[in-house]
Amino acid sequence: MKLLVTGATGYIGSHAALELLDAGHEVVGVDNLSNSSRESLRRVEALTGRDVPFVQADIRDRAAMEDVLREGIDAVMHFAGLKAVGESTEQPLAYYENNIGGTLALTQAMEAAGVRRMIFSSSATVYGDPARVPIDENTPTGRPSNPYGYSKLMIEQILRDLAAADSRWSVALLRYFNPVGAHASGQIGEDPQGIPNNLVPYISQVAVGRREALSIFGDDYPTPDGTGVRDYIHVVDLARGHVRALEFLANAVSERPDQLDQSPQAAGAQASANCHVWNLGTGRGYSVREAVAAFEKASGRSVPVQVAPRRPGDIAECYADPTLARQQLGWQAGHDLDAMMRDAWHWQRQNPQGYEV
Ligand code: NAD
Ligand code: UDP
Repeated sequence: MKLLVTGATGYIGSHAALELLDAGHEVVGVDNLSNSSRESLRRVEALTGRDVPFVQADIRDRAAMEDVLREGIDAVMHFAGLKAVGESTEQPLAYYENNIGGTLALTQAMEAAGVRRMIFSSSATVYGDPARVPIDENTPTGRPSNPYGYSKLMIEQILRDLAAADSRWSVALLRYFNPVGAHASGQIGEDPQGIPNNLVPYISQVAVGRREALSIFGDDYPTPDGTGVRDYIHVVDLARGHVRALEFLANAVSERPDQLDQSPQAAGAQASANCHVWNLGTGRGYSVREAVAAFEKASGRSVPVQVAPRRPGDIAECYADPTLARQQLGWQAGHDLDAMMRDAWHWQRQNPQGYEV
């Protein structure tokens, strides 16, 4: 299939592009380069020996999207968006404009071009602070603690409504837990601009000498060691989950609807025959201290830490029940925490300043 990948030069988009190419698909990348470097896709091309046509454009530019989509695109993997939680609290309009406005323009362009298959980057943040863990897809969506999270929840609703209104659409809402790590080559990885918001990039920058110490945001949570517990998932596993979801959507179209298993158990309570919801996580939670210890083991470097107050909006524990993706997509994460940290470190050590050369 020929895929339009929005946000293609970003962290997850570049890894997904690589996995799509490896699986024999074609990729056209779109990005406005607001949070990424053109270099990432050049490296994907070098790693795969394949061309990745790239269009520098904003997904809110509907006409530009329509032009690209008319080039024989079969499906869209939609990664483009702003993702800094703290910034979203300071600039809510920019986040709603970009993430929701961008998705609306993109889906309108898709409709006009007759491309009605979309795989969307959602997030476990849509569950808010869940009553219990592990979180399966039947868990009610909650109250995200910031505009970024709400933008994901609202986009999910828009795509669900679209699929309900027109059975020609097929949609996958992929709820990521905590993507970390990098491609095993160390050639592509996460390259945050400024001070990293997320744990593993921060640890990596401490280990490589760019920052002094990691602040642990709270050690008084009701967790085994008091620090927050998350379901870290290797970005390559995550990318492969997208390839499986794409293939599922493509095959579902050729099945008769009455042959699809539409039981709530199979579909997830918030899914329907043409709008699917899948958690992409490992099913295992690790604390901040466990993540630091795994990184130290993988890198052979010590990572100084200091305990700081809790970060507003953080929850104690969040990890997936990934059973549905295993059953329906035949997908499960293959990399453990040590592999995630090894690959995060490999990328950071080879590219201490990210893509900047
Ligand atoms: P990223 O910032 O590395 O990639 C997003 C890309 O989108 C960037 O390259 C950016 O330049 C581009 N972009 C932003 N707005 C755009 C616009 N209007 N038009 C064109 N391009 C635009 O982030 P990522 O970590 O690769 O995340 C990809 C997607 O996954 C995002 O939608 C994010 O919200 C979602 N997600 C990420 C995580 C995570 O922890 N990384 C977790 C859950 C969900
Ligand atoms: N965290 C931390 N220090 C940091 C960044 C994160 O202690 O500099 C903790 C955070 O409180 C949470 C976990 O690490 O318990 C994962 O945070 P991250 O921002 O990576 O992902 P989130 O789950 O918040 O999306």
